[in-house]
Amino acid sequence: MPRVSVCAGYPLFRSRFDASFPDEDVVFVNQENCPGGQKELEDRLANAEALVSDVDGTAHPYHFWTELRQLLPPKAAAANAVASRSYWQREPSAQEELELLFGPIPAMYGWDRKVLRKLVATFVPRIGFVPLFRSFRAEHVLLNSFGIWDPIHDWLEQFMSAEEANACQIAALRLRWGVNGHEVIVGYDPHTAVTGYTKGEFAQAFLSRVQVSNHRALVLGDSKTDIRMFGHGRCSVLIVPRSYDTGLHAHLSDLEALWPHLTAVLVSDSWDSLVDMRRSVRLATPAEVAAFGN
Ligand SMILES: [Mg+2]
Repeated sequence: MPRVSVCAGYPLFRSRFDASFPDEDVVFVNQENCPGGQKELEDRLANAEALVSDVDGTAHPYHFWTELRQLLPPKAAAANAVASRSYWQREPSAQEELELLFGPIPAMYGWDRKVLRKLVATFVPRIGFVPLFRSFRAEHVLLNSFGIWDPIHDWLEQFMSAEEANACQIAALRLRWGVNGHEVIVGYDPHTAVTGYTKGEFAQAFLSRVQVSNHRALVLGDSKTDIRMFGHGRCSVLIVPRSYDTGLHAHLSDLEALWPHLTAVLVSDSWDSLVDMRRSVRLATPAEVAAFGN
């Protein structure tokens, strides 16, 4: 089990986060959103009925777009660099967020599906991803990404059964592979246009569709782009990998903005702690769930 530190307020969390970590996983519990501390966190993990997770950096340590940029012709790479710089230097609105991230995509036409498949074949999932995924019904899992549906699905199929990969929901842009080798990019699914939708809207739409309340949802993410799916009474856990080359602090300059939305912060390269905590308590009986006011 990880070391658990219950923090009453951001300053206490930050002072402990800033201290050097011992060689072990640490879970910081946000007492304002989880007043029962470790016990409440374990109960909420054990009783979660739906999983909403970011993909890049969270489910695996890689970043699809970073890797993909290596494959771009110079003109497209330059356009993408401008968009990325602009995105990271300011706080975009929901609409701008998508436009900035996806604006340069038309310049990328000519992708080869085999190339994308080969790329994601190198993306090893985080330890604990598979057992945590499998502790939920596959149709109650949403992978919520600013990436592209097709490679995420290909990636999932490498270590999940085809049934699990197909049952799992993937909120991401979808490529339509044309007969002449060109791709058409559509929205979350073929019925959704790419408009102002963010990870927040996709998470809410998914939870409504599977009829799981916010209180029974476990949400995992690793950066400020996940902020809109955190909070809302969900069990929201920020994953902060210990192994980032740039160090923990360079990775997360936005902790103060993220903290009020979080239930906990997991400092670890794996999800094993979450799996252990989810298994550490028995599941509530239906009567207990009803009494809890769910
Ligand atoms: Mg991420």
